[in-house]
Amino acid sequence: MNTLRFQALTKVAERKPKSVPAYNIDEFAKYVFNEEAMRQYLSHKIMKHVLDASTHGIKIDRKYADDIAKGMKEWAVSKGVTHYTHWFQPLTGSTAEKHESFLNIEEHKPVYEFKGSALIQQEPDASSFPSGGIRNTFEARGYTAWDPSSPAFIVENGDGAGKTLCIPTVFISYTGEALDYKTPFLRSLHLLETNALSVYHYFDKEAKKVTATLGIEQEYFLIDKAFYTARPDLMMCGRTLVGREPSRGQQLEDHYFGSIPARIFAYMVEVEQEALKLGIPLKTRHNEVAPAQFECAPIFEEANLAIDHNQILMELMKRIADKHDFYIIFHEKPFAKVNGSGKHNNWSIGTDTGKNLLSPGKNPKDNLAFLTFFTSTIKAVYEHNALLRASIASAENDHRLGANEAPPAIISVFIGSQLTQILNDILEGKETETIRKEVDFKLKKIPEILIDNTDRNRTSPFAFTGNKFEFRAVGASANCSAAITILNTIVANQLAEFKNEVDTQIQAGVKKDDAIINVLKEYIKTAQPVLFEGNGYSEEWVQEAEKRGLFHVKTTPHALKAYISEKSKTLFEKTHVLSEKELEAHYEVFLERYTKKVQIESRVLGEMVLNQIIPVAVEYQQKLAQNVITLSQLQLNHTAKPQVDIINRIAKHVAIIKEEVEKMIDERKIGNKIENVAERAIHYCEKVKPYLESIRYHVDKLEFIVEDSAWCLPKYREMLFMR
Ligand code: ADP
Ligand code: MG
Repeated sequence: MNTLRFQALTKVAERKPKSVPAYNIDEFAKYVFNEEAMRQYLSHKIMKHVLDASTHGIKIDRKYADDIAKGMKEWAVSKGVTHYTHWFQPLTGSTAEKHESFLNIEEHKPVYEFKGSALIQQEPDASSFPSGGIRNTFEARGYTAWDPSSPAFIVENGDGAGKTLCIPTVFISYTGEALDYKTPFLRSLHLLETNALSVYHYFDKEAKKVTATLGIEQEYFLIDKAFYTARPDLMMCGRTLVGREPSRGQQLEDHYFGSIPARIFAYMVEVEQEALKLGIPLKTRHNEVAPAQFECAPIFEEANLAIDHNQILMELMKRIADKHDFYIIFHEKPFAKVNGSGKHNNWSIGTDTGKNLLSPGKNPKDNLAFLTFFTSTIKAVYEHNALLRASIASAENDHRLGANEAPPAIISVFIGSQLTQILNDILEGKETETIRKEVDFKLKKIPEILIDNTDRNRTSPFAFTGNKFEFRAVGASANCSAAITILNTIVANQLAEFKNEVDTQIQAGVKKDDAIINVLKEYIKTAQPVLFEGNGYSEEWVQEAEKRGLFHVKTTPHALKAYISEKSKTLFEKTHVLSEKELEAHYEVFLERYTKKVQIESRVLGEMVLNQIIPVAVEYQQKLAQNVITLSQLQLNHTAKPQVDIINRIAKHVAIIKEEVEKMIDERKIGNKIENVAERAIHYCEKVKPYLESIRYHVDKLEFIVEDSAWCLPKYREMLFMR
């Protein structure tokens, strides 16, 4: 009973909630180099330059760089910062940083120094980041460059151990290709904002700028750190590869929105407070559906900031979890048979005049603008549903999508009954003028009606929720740039086409509003197949969706192909969001990441089975065998039947497990010899991955019959219910 599992059980039973400082709103953005901080540390002229660069996405003038760096350093040092780092988002999926001290020696004395050149650009050794063949490993040069549209911020490392100034940057190869998520994302954002503004000018010439907005709901699991330490699968793969479902899971539906357990509550308060200091406005906290699952969501922000904030928040949540003796799990499906975790991306477009373009308005002009952006988004999702599906594909998310609790692996759009009716009216209308009146009339009522949540559909991967679209199929551990880059790009592209088509009609003499309605009508007609109001979890929908020609693939290697389809290639070429070389490279990186994830899981499972599970099972079998011998010595053989039965069952499972592990290893060997990355990923998906399931089946059977005190892995009931 001295296994890590039992040590963990003892520890967890004794845990108490940590005490945390009270929530204090005055600390908002204390660690952000925002306008207020700039005002104190930069001259007026330089501050204006930085703010302009930030709002208009223009480059920082090098001649100001030294002064900006100096001001930033002074501000940071006043907060106790000693180091700085360029902070970037490589295609690994996590964020990267390489700390450097402000320290310099001048005339034998230590001083703090931060040069403009170090702020603007750096050359981290990029050879160990994935680049999908853009850069050979020997040509290690890639560089990071400051993205002034996201403000610098301070991160505390360890509890009081030190603070680091983080400068958000893009990460580019020496030859200028994007090696990260942020670069294509910023391109897509710029394109969307430009195209949306030019379309919006049909309705309102006042607006000078439109901005994509994003509110990211983050789901996660929290389990005790001691359990994590005793589970090689959690440590190495972020999910449990074995584990029998607990007798009680989520069937009582008593966890969702239930009262938050004390230790968790203390954790959440501390996360919120630290997030507040970083200017991340967390707004909601609650229990999610599965036991030990929770969610938080900030107030929405400009998309670029929202994504950076989500990445910062995930790091923060990990760090604070550790402090509270928790381990946080962002994996999309850490526990079989209970719900997985997603990251709902609430997305909209707003103007600098304060208007949300996806909010139905109160007057005819606003309503037509709303219908334009609403319908164009739906049309874009219809046209590129395969690409959108690819943008959320990962080894982790494969376990979640289509698993009867998460959005299906088919991209469809839910809009609710009122808007369905309105679109149908437009479609069926014979006389443009009357349709428009009709539409105005109906839309006037919409703000009140849509707020009513009865018109919600939780099974839809892409739902309109009153004044924004909610892309729900994004995985909890993902960097949502991947998904939002695609969404921005396809909508931007659609808006450009829309503008073209409407302008052509206007030039041919059609009145502007009529031209707009004509084009929208075409869009509604074309995009019909993507609209779905029914149950996205049902088997009928899978069949129906296939009939409608919607893209349906369940696994990542196949889903990813949509990135390099002719249609996608044309799109990326036209929009300049990814060059052909970048596209191929990113595709390759995503495939490799998939293969490596499955490979690691397969290795870890093999090890666990041979080092932990079989030994434990055999030990128990031996104990039973000993008992059978004793009974026979006492001439009580006739009472030994149940024991013999269990001995046989153990023998059967152990034999199968061992054989399957060997076969799995053989398949890995075959896979590793395949040169082509796509084929290798498919091999891992179709030949290696199935063993993870079949081996698990027998391990879970063993867990059921082997005596509890011998079992060395923390059980589901313990991880999910003890805190
Ligand atoms: P629910 O769970 O009901 O979907 P939440 O409150 O958890 O709602 O999350 C909704 C998210 O949508 C929040 O982050 C919110 O700020 C965000 N949101 C609201 N309006 C917009 C908008 N116009 N653009 C982007 N996100 C928005
Ligand atoms: Mg939501």
